[in-house]
Amino acid sequence: MVEVKTKKLTNFINGEWVNVEKTTPVINPATGETILDVPLSDADSVNAAVKAAKIAQKDWALVPAPQRAEVLYRVGYLLKERKEELSQLLTMENGKVIEEARGEVQEGIDMAFYMAGEGRRLFGQTTPAELKDKFAMSIRAPIGVVGIITPWNFPIAIATWKSFPAIVAGNAVVWKPATETPIMAYELAKIFEEAGLPKGVINVVFGSGSEVGDAMVHHDDIRVISFTGSNDVGRNIAAECGRQLKKVSLEMGGKNAVIVMDDADLDLAVEGILWSAFGTSGQRCTACSRVIVHEDVKEALEERLLVAMEKLTIGNGLDSANKVGPIINKAGIEKIKQYIEIGKEEGAKLLAGGYELTEGDHANGSYFAPTLFTNVKGSMRIALEEIFGPVVSLVPVKSFEEAIEVNNSVTYGLSSSIFTRDVNRVFKAQRDLDTGIVYVNAGTTGAEIHLPFGGTKGTGNGHRDSGTQALDVYTEWKSVYVDYSGKLQRAQIDVE
Ligand code: NAP
Ligand code: MG
Repeated sequence: MVEVKTKKLTNFINGEWVNVEKTTPVINPATGETILDVPLSDADSVNAAVKAAKIAQKDWALVPAPQRAEVLYRVGYLLKERKEELSQLLTMENGKVIEEARGEVQEGIDMAFYMAGEGRRLFGQTTPAELKDKFAMSIRAPIGVVGIITPWNFPIAIATWKSFPAIVAGNAVVWKPATETPIMAYELAKIFEEAGLPKGVINVVFGSGSEVGDAMVHHDDIRVISFTGSNDVGRNIAAECGRQLKKVSLEMGGKNAVIVMDDADLDLAVEGILWSAFGTSGQRCTACSRVIVHEDVKEALEERLLVAMEKLTIGNGLDSANKVGPIINKAGIEKIKQYIEIGKEEGAKLLAGGYELTEGDHANGSYFAPTLFTNVKGSMRIALEEIFGPVVSLVPVKSFEEAIEVNNSVTYGLSSSIFTRDVNRVFKAQRDLDTGIVYVNAGTTGAEIHLPFGGTKGTGNGHRDSGTQALDVYTEWKSVYVDYSGKLQRAQIDVE
C-alpha cells in the first residue's frame, strides 16, 4: 500500500513550494482518518500566483508549440510510471474504488498524450482572399493567464482536461483544486516540475472556494475561468465573469437517465444501470439517477436490478473486493438522506436501500446503501434534482416518445442513454435526446477524452472540456491578412 510521505501540503507558486500557516485536515472518507493537512490560502497567495503566471506566460507563449508539447509527453510518461501510486492516493482522498481510480488516472495519461499531439496541430485555417496578391489565414493565439477551479469527484481527470490544453496552447495556469481532494493536485504539480515545465507556467493555490476561488474570479489578470462543480457556484461565477467580460467555461450538474425500452437486452441494461448509478457511489456528474422504463418491462427490470444490487459490496475502495466506496463526507450523506425523505413524501415507493450504513466496517466512514425508488413521476423532485449519491428513481412510461419527453424535462443536459435493439429508435434517440452526451446500449458514463465533454441547458454555458473543442476555451482566434500587392487594396470595395 502507498505511503503518504508528507503531513502537510504546500502551495506551488512560481516553481517554489510555499508554506501556508493556516490549514485544514483532509479526511479519508472510507475511514474517517486524517490523511494530511491542506493549506487554506488567502487572496495574497492568489495574487502571487497570478503575478508569476503572468510573467512566465510571456516566455512560454514564445516556445514553439511542439516543444511545449514535449513537456506534456514527459508528464504522460511520469503519470504512467506512477499510475498505481497515484490511484491509491486518489482512492484515499476521494473514496472511489481502486479500479475506478486507476481508470481516472488513465484518463489523465490519455489526455497528456492526446494534447501533446496537439502541439503539432493546433490547426487554424488558410483560405483564399478576395483580393489579388493577398493571403488570409486564421490562427489560435493563447489568451494569457487561465484560472482553473475543479471539484472533488474527479480530482485528477478534470484537472488534466483543463490544464493540458491550456498549457499546450501557450497559456499559464493558476489552479485551485477542491479542498476535499488536494493530493492529486500536489502530485500533478510535482510531476509538472519533474517534467521540466518552466517555473510559473502552472501554479497551485490550495484553499476554499469562497476565499481562493473568489479571488481568482475577481482578479483582472486572469482572463479565462474554467470551472467544474455545482450549478449554484457556477452560476455566480458566470455572473461575475460576465460583468468583467471575462471568458468563462462551466461544466456543472446532471440528472442523467438510462432509458430501457420494451425490446432491450434487460441483463445488459441492468449492468449498465449498476455501473452508472452506483459507480463512484453515484457521485459522478454523469451518474445515472433516473431509469426511464417502458411499462411492459418495468417489473422484470425491477426484479433483476434488486438481485444485482444485493451483490454490491460496499466498503473501503482500497480493498478490490468492494464495488461501491464511501460518500465524500457527512454533508453529502445528509443531502442524500434529505432526498430519501422527499421521495417518500412525494409518494415514490422505496424498493431498496434508503439508509446510511453505520455498523462494523462502515462505522467510521461515510457510507450509504444503494437505493432504488420506483413508481416515480417525472415531475417529482427526486426525478428532477441532482442528489449526488447512490439513489436511482425508476420512472415508468408508455412509449418511446414519452421516454424522450421525460428525459428532456429536466433543467440539466449532460448525459443520457437508451437500451433498445430497434435501429430506428436508436437514430431517433440520438437526434432527440437533448444532452451533450448520448449512449446507445451502454450506461450514462464512460466518456473518451478525444471527444468533447459537456452538457446542454443548465449543465453548462456552451463550452466543452476535452476533445479539440477544449482548445477553443484557452485560445482566441486571430485572423491574419497579408497583402503582397504593394498597393492599398480595400476589401469589399476594390473587388473587380
Ligand atoms: P462545488 O461545491 O461547486 O465546488 C467546485 C469547486 O468550486 C471547488 O474547488 C470549490 O472549492 C470551488 N468553489 C466553491 N465556492 C466557490 C466560489 N464562491 N468561488 C469560486 N470557487 C468556488 O462542487 P463540488 O461539490 O466540489 O462538486 C460536485 C458538483 O460538480 C456536482 O454538482 C457535479 O455534478 C459537478 N460536476 C460536474 C462535472 C461536469 O463536467 N459537468 C464533472 C464533475 C462534477 P471548495 O470546495 O474547496 O471550497
Ligand atoms: Mg465543495
